[in-house]
Amino acid sequence: MTKTIIIDAGHGGKDSGANGFGVLEKDWALEISKYQYSRLKAMGADVRMTRKSDITLSPTERIARIKNQYDVCLSNHWNAFDGKARGVETIHSIHAKPIFATDLAKRLVEVTGLPLRRVFTRKIGAGVDYYFLHRLTGRTETVIMEYGFIDHELDHKYYHQKASFILAAEAVIEVICGKIGLKYIPLNVDGAAKETHKENQKTELKSFLGRRLESKYDGQLRFYKTPSWKDADVYGFLTKGQGFPRILDKISVGGGEQYKVENSKGQQFYITAHSNFVEVE
Ligand SMILES: [Zn+2]
Repeated sequence: MTKTIIIDAGHGGKDSGANGFGVLEKDWALEISKYQYSRLKAMGADVRMTRKSDITLSPTERIARIKNQYDVCLSNHWNAFDGKARGVETIHSIHAKPIFATDLAKRLVEVTGLPLRRVFTRKIGAGVDYYFLHRLTGRTETVIMEYGFIDHELDHKYYHQKASFILAAEAVIEVICGKIGLKYIPLNVDGAAKETHKENQKTELKSFLGRRLESKYDGQLRFYKTPSWKDADVYGFLTKGQGFPRILDKISVGGGEQYKVENSKGQQFYITAHSNFVEVE
């Protein structure tokens, strides 16, 4: 016997939840929930949803649809804070073991390359959960899933791409299947999704963005007006210790790599990204 599950698309209707870059949390929550619902259904799960459209649900109404009627509840959300906070969070009840919430967070992080922020519980008093989804759902084991920060540029960009949105949804489904005792049938992840994932991994490593670049080369280090290594495209030279205040990008140029940089006047140039010649500060 498999366990039963209900997927709760956070917020809805008048309650749009968090928002960032023109996207409302309630919309992404519904989209991912509908996707997960139909995938689980297709695999033979006994699965329901708290809402299937953009309707308002009061906490009481939401609880009435969940409490004691299912073994597991997955509540889908996105965070928002100051535009700087980012990453994946899962929240479990103080009365539950952290295994399920930890597995969800770990698998999502593994698949998406997004950072793990925390797996946690929150209480308002001894033995009392802070979140009503934990406090009032009875024997239904509920995990609140925060996929990332909708107002953080990189988190947002990740989920904004359809292919990565699906990868994330699948990562969660896989763990859910283990939890409810159902065999997970992988989706044929197409090339696009894999590419997106690789792109995201690269984005994660772009720690040079916005930082100062300095020449550590003893001679005169050429910089170019376009992405090029040609003499004709040389704009000027840096001597050792001279630099550009801001790196804007890193690109492949004819077998090598160049940083796209900006000077204090906002003019943009290209310069070798080789660590023998330049330093990122
Ligand atoms: Zn939320």
